[in-house]
Amino acid sequence: MENILLHTCCGICGFSATQNLEKSFNIKYYWYNPNIHLVSEYKKRLDSAKTKFTFIIDTYDWKKWFLRIKNIAYNNIERCKECYIMRLTKTAEKAKELKINNFSSTLLISPYQKHDLLKNIGEDLQKRFNVKFHYFDERKNFYKYRNQYREFGLYMQKYCGCVFSKPR
Ligand code: SF4
Repeated sequence: MENILLHTCCGICGFSATQNLEKSFNIKYYWYNPNIHLVSEYKKRLDSAKTKFTFIIDTYDWKKWFLRIKNIAYNNIERCKECYIMRLTKTAEKAKELKINNFSSTLLISPYQKHDLLKNIGEDLQKRFNVKFHYFDERKNFYKYRNQYREFGLYMQKYCGCVFSKPR
């Protein structure tokens, strides 16, 4: 089975996305989510996800993330685009560095994300880094494992991650 570096945005997307993915790949889990606001929320999501997966954990570059989006913060499409580019670029770079031939992201399973944008970004990065982007669309399965999330006590967050997506 081939290896894949899977950018994991949270425990519940990780759980849902891997149910089928693990039939085809040997998965290495990668945590790079500098978008998450606040530090306490970041820790909560990571600690929850770590109960199910063993991660390669990258830096919590929250300042870098904020500087990248600060001029487009209130444009949802542009902000999410930069957020995806930042996280997926790091994943592709890391896959290249570790000599893992495939990369992908659990963001693809979420019906709340901008799916086509993610797909386009992944495909561009595939060309740029010469690492295969594994595209999948299992948004229909997002709610299928709800009972298991509860059974395993996985944290179900209330917002995407950044301060701009946080309910006030
Ligand atoms: S809404 Fe989600 S994907 Fe969009 S910028 Fe915020 S954290 Fe990133």
